[in-house]
Amino acid sequence: MINVENVTKTFGKHEVLRGITTTVERGEVVAVIGPSGSGKSTFLRCLNLLETPTEGRITIDGTVVTDPATNIVRFRQRIGMVFQHFNLFPHMSVIDNIMFAPMKVKGLSREEARAKAAALLERVGLADKADSFPSRLSGGQKQRIAIARSLAMDPEIMLFDEPTSALDPEMVKEVLEVLRGLASSGMTMLIVTHEMKFAREAADTIYFLDDGRLIEQAPPAQFFERPQSERAQRFLERVL
Ligand code: ADP
Ligand code: MG
Repeated sequence: MINVENVTKTFGKHEVLRGITTTVERGEVVAVIGPSGSGKSTFLRCLNLLETPTEGRITIDGTVVTDPATNIVRFRQRIGMVFQHFNLFPHMSVIDNIMFAPMKVKGLSREEARAKAAALLERVGLADKADSFPSRLSGGQKQRIAIARSLAMDPEIMLFDEPTSALDPEMVKEVLEVLRGLASSGMTMLIVTHEMKFAREAADTIYFLDDGRLIEQAPPAQFFERPQSERAQRFLERVL
């Protein structure tokens, strides 16, 4: 579904991604891990062209998205992204937050958008919060709403950049549960995370980034039990 060929990204003189090559299958769940500053966020942002790669090629579902002729706006609708900070619209109720883009961008009627939003709220376990405002929700609830809002656009791929890093520990689990549900529903997902237990249990593949390079990609059992590189070994010693 996603093919990444020799992608580099340079900011000024700083080469942040140094030639990333990989393939993500439809329905694959990838956990992206690695030290701070290794390029994880930049890699994710290149996938939906929030950053333009300096070199290399990204193909998604047969479309070369790094081709300047590609309609980036339309293409980006097919990829949902959820960040550490939820960025809900503060002046809108929960259900309006979820209904907004499907109505504005996809042209759904209010009724259609409402039905869809209600189903998504059910899915993230927050049906009773439809009419609440974001300021009244906990961090974990806000993040689940942010996920529902993103899913309302029917993305084919979901990108998560440290979705639980800003949460109090007791709220991490409820968000990871939603991610697990999404993973088992067959969504193609890439998740930057520091939650190693989650990565191990929920991902099909671990990507280990270090200094702008994808230095290991392996199934979790293999990566966590027999990391090949010294860098991954050292990283795991620190975090496990
Ligand atoms: P990670 O998510 O793994 O912590 P990032 O992708 O955020 O790493 O950043 C990798 C490196 O790129 C860091 O050194 C960071 O300072 C740098 N970087 C990221 N975004 C920019 C930017 N817009 N301009 C300049 N440098 C950046
Ligand atoms: Mg980051």
